[in-house]
Order: sequence, then C-alpha cells, then structure tokens
Amino acid sequence: MEFTEAFYNDPYLTEQDSTVQSCEPCKKGYKAVLSDTIFYPEGGGQPSDRGFLVTGDGTRIPVNDVKRNGEDMVELYMESPVSSGDTVHQVIDWDFRFSLMQNHSGEHIVSGLINREYGFENEGFHMSDVITIDISGELDREQIINIERKANQAIWKNIPVNIIFPEMGELEDLNYRSKKELSGKVRLVNIEDTDSCACCGLHVKRTGEIGLIKILSFIRYKGGVRLEMVCGDKALLDYERKLDSITEIKNALSVKPEEVTEAVNRVLEESAEKSGRIALLNSRYFDMRTAELQGDNDIIFTVEKELDGQEIRKLCDRLNKSGKAGTSVVLAPADKEDEPGEEAYLYVIGSTKHDLKSAAKALNDVLKGRGGGSKEMIQGTFYADMESIKSAVNKAFGVN
Ligand SMILES: [Zn+2]
Repeated sequence: MEFTEAFYNDPYLTEQDSTVQSCEPCKKGYKAVLSDTIFYPEGGGQPSDRGFLVTGDGTRIPVNDVKRNGEDMVELYMESPVSSGDTVHQVIDWDFRFSLMQNHSGEHIVSGLINREYGFENEGFHMSDVITIDISGELDREQIINIERKANQAIWKNIPVNIIFPEMGELEDLNYRSKKELSGKVRLVNIEDTDSCACCGLHVKRTGEIGLIKILSFIRYKGGVRLEMVCGDKALLDYERKLDSITEIKNALSVKPEEVTEAVNRVLEESAEKSGRIALLNSRYFDMRTAELQGDNDIIFTVEKELDGQEIRKLCDRLNKSGKAGTSVVLAPADKEDEPGEEAYLYVIGSTKHDLKSAAKALNDVLKGRGGGSKEMIQGTFYADMESIKSAVNKAFGVN
C-alpha cells in the first residue's frame, strides 16, 4: 500500500478522487486513510484543511479534522464512516485553504525580512483570524513600518516561491531560518532576496498571490516583540471592517474621515468637561438634600429617582457625615433587565450606630437582595417594593 501526499505535489488541487484504504471508529467518530489525499494535516503552524468527501451514492461527509500519523500517513476525521476499497471524491474548502496559504507565505516574508534587516528570529507563530509572530528582539514603530513596506514590495515584485529539498551535505552551507527543528529530509521554502525557511506548510506559487500584508499591532513580549498581522483576504476583510467603523464614526460626528481623530478627542474633552459640571451640580444637590432631609427615629430614608448607583453612594456618605441621623438609607430605582416584572431598588445604607455587615444579611434575606459591604456602609439591590423595604429597614434597625 502506498500513500502519496497530493497536497505537496500540487497545493492548488481542490478536488480529487481517491480510494479509501481504511476506515475505523475512533473517539472523534471515524478516521479514514485515503490512497492519495489533498487534505493538509495540521503542521508547521498551519491548521488542517476542512472540506468533505462525496461517496459513490452522492452522500457528502464533512471532514472535521486532518492529522498526520507518523511519517507518511494522513488521517481524515469524520462523523460518518466510508467503506474501505470505495472511491470517494475529495473536496477541500478552497477559500479557507488559499487564505491559509496567503497568510503563511506572508508570514515567511515578514519573518525573513526581519531576520535579514535586524537579525532577529521568529520564535513562534500562530495562525487563526490573525497571525501572531513572536520576534526575538525589540523593534520600534519605524522598523515595523520599514518591514511592512518591504514585505509589500516583495509582493509587487511577484517573486516565485520555490520549494527545494537540498541534500544533507548541501544544507550546512545554506543560510536559512528554522535550522534547529530539523530531522530527516529538509524542505526549504525559498523566496528570492526575501527569505529561505525550513517549513512543511503550504504556500502560494508567487508572492503576488498574497495580495497585501498588513501588520496590525506590535507589543513588547518576552524581551522581543509580538506582532499581529494579516494577509490577502484577511487583510481585505480587516480593511473593510475598519472602513465601516470609520464611516460610522465620521457620519455620527458629521466630519470628514481625516478629521475623525480630532473630532473624537473633542467629544471626549467635552464629555470630561460635562462630567466635571455634573459632579459639581451633584455636590450642590447633595448639600441641599442633606439640609432638607430629616431623620425619623434616627433613620433618614430617601428614594432618589434621578440618581445612579455611584451618586446615591455619595449622597449617603454626605448624609452620614452630616450627623443628622445615625443611619441613612438611600434608594434609587434599579434597571430591572435581569429580573423583569419585579420592583427593584439599588440601595446604599450608611450607619454610625449599627453594624451593617450583619444587617446586610438580614435585609437581603427578607428583600431578596444582593450586595454587602463594610460595617459602616453597604450597597446592592433589593428586589422588593418600597413599603416592604421601609418596614424591613425599620425592623433591622430596631424601630417598630
Ligand atoms: Zn512556514
């Protein structure tokens, strides 16, 4: 029995007939081995292909995963079995695969250029919606821009991407990346004047097919930098999404696209100014309420319809400090999204007379409440009506 790997012979095969060599049940359903597979197994940082098999009677069986088992066996994982000896028609998800080829080749160009220009290594990379590359040394913004520009110039030159298998003797004299991971036959992916790297992944034939390389971000990471980048269809998608965002923002602010940053900063400044004014007015309002509110049996009880959770806390604090009553209970109507149909109030209770930690438990029990705090101040939500809250509070603080 001989297995060949059609995906290496021609990475552009999207469909092919093959004979089922074996199929057996496994944890993930069934695993099958074909005489000749176009499905790439996960490896070299490149995720496995997906797609389906069509059996003789036209049934489509999705291929959920593909893994290498040993040197020359590739297993397809499926939920339903195929029959040994049957011919099946393989179909891979070409859009998904081609995107991986674009992104993988783009990753080689960027890593190769960083290596050539600055001498740093790619210490690990991960391909999903974006490609993440960990670089062994620090790069600044200017250097990143330089790499991105040169990477795209390499695309415009439409350089051939050549796969070569040098003899062991030749290898020592060759300059290429990923020297350390190697054993056995070495597969080099060469992009002239740009990169040479040992890799088992699948690549485009010429760099022009990558379309575009865009570095999205870089952060310091383990003494070097971690880059995020996208290529090809993913770069286009990223551009489309970002253009949508900018268009929405510019429309909302009624400015030109190039004025968006300035306009957003202006809105933020105005918002900060408004927050300052609101805080000032609140403070005056808290003073007025503190002067106005009177305790009943040493308890001040108030419902503040317009205030939010933070504001009732500040008011409660102000009331407490005024010394007008030993205990202050400040409520505000709560958003009832989480438990619709019930009356709910945010509460803040402050006291100089009672230990509120134990009171919190008793009140939450009676009023189906949540929350707690310190001995002096508690806050949370009561799911109860006003009369029940009032009577529970009076009971908790010894008023009949
Ligand atoms: Zn690679």
